[in-house]
Amino acid sequence: PLVLGIETSCDETGVGIVRGTTLLADAVASSVDDHARFGGVVPEIASRAHLEAMVPTIERALKEAGIAASDLDGIAVTAGPGLAGALLVGVSAAKAYAYALGKPLYGVNHLASHICVDQLEHGPLPEPTMALLVSGGHSSLLLAPDITADVRPLGSTIDDAAGEAFDKVARVLGLGFPGGPVIDRYAREGDPEAIRFPRGLTGPRDAPFDFSFSGLKTAVARWVEARRRAGEPVPVADVAASFQEAVTDVLTRKAVRACQEQGVDHLMIGGGVAANSRLRAMAQERCDAAGIVLRVPRPKLCTDNGAMVAALGAEMVARNRPASGLDLPADSSLPVTEPHIPGQAHS
Ligand code: ATP
Ligand code: MG
Ligand code: FE
Repeated sequence: PLVLGIETSCDETGVGIVRGTTLLADAVASSVDDHARFGGVVPEIASRAHLEAMVPTIERALKEAGIAASDLDGIAVTAGPGLAGALLVGVSAAKAYAYALGKPLYGVNHLASHICVDQLEHGPLPEPTMALLVSGGHSSLLLAPDITADVRPLGSTIDDAAGEAFDKVARVLGLGFPGGPVIDRYAREGDPEAIRFPRGLTGPRDAPFDFSFSGLKTAVARWVEARRRAGEPVPVADVAASFQEAVTDVLTRKAVRACQEQGVDHLMIGGGVAANSRLRAMAQERCDAAGIVLRVPRPKLCTDNGAMVAALGAEMVARNRPASGLDLPADSSLPVTEPHIPGQAHS
């Protein structure tokens, strides 16, 4: 099926077009620069930017794919989770296009989309799929027998998300926003063994598949503070590398263990933090050692984009899932266990 997907849950206006598991277009307009001076995403600014970018980005994607809107088999849109006002812009646009074109509408889950996007890179997902979802707002290990209908959390962060930890540590180091890409860059010049930061929830009595990154963030802040108070220079690259090592060590260790315990022979990693170069390398090493096939999409498909929404929408169409109604709500806290929001059955 030929499906257009719209993503506006945070600060990226993304429009993607796929045919089944083939990527045809991936247009993204980001308002990240407008937020940088505030040190985080400002919801009102994001909503306004989506409003301005929405139609031009849809047109750019259609042109890139070389198709007419009338050729589409469906319109998919992120219905949640995310910023309420930002989601509303995408949902409203999707409804308008679906109604005007007479095409079915699919309100899909942003988190399931972060996983389903890998179909565009590595072909159909195995069933069940074992996924490590690591993004700005979420960090979970998920087992999905069917990404369109059945997603089960094995464990999640009990405090900060992994991406949030990157963003907060970057702020402590004065590296700006967003923190992930800049820490990734600095870490390449640093020694990952320079400082031994804590690995949260890795004790024998801790929940095996839950995460905790708030203690790590505090430990980094304390370490940096102590240096500054002593009037000593802060070795930014070493701190970045050592922090990144602690995060990736815990994520990959628990993910491999989940595969082994569940008897799953592959691991998918999705979400913005999956763009991290050290996480990708360490996951590859540890999966190789354990005989697990690693699936991680290219970095551009890990961070927010419309192609991932189109990928999940196409899967909904392929599996004959019920479309959403034109009364589709934007649900800022849509749980990961609901891959899409079907419409009410009318009789
Ligand atoms: P969610 O998907 O949970 O709703 P989000 O959509 O805001 O949150 P994503 O776009 O999926 O989040 O990911 C953004 C996060 O990824 C940010 O926290 C950012 O710092 C992080 N990130 C991006 N690139 C990298 C990188 N190379 N290394 C580490 N983190 C990264
Ligand atoms: Mg973003
Ligand atoms: Fe995301």
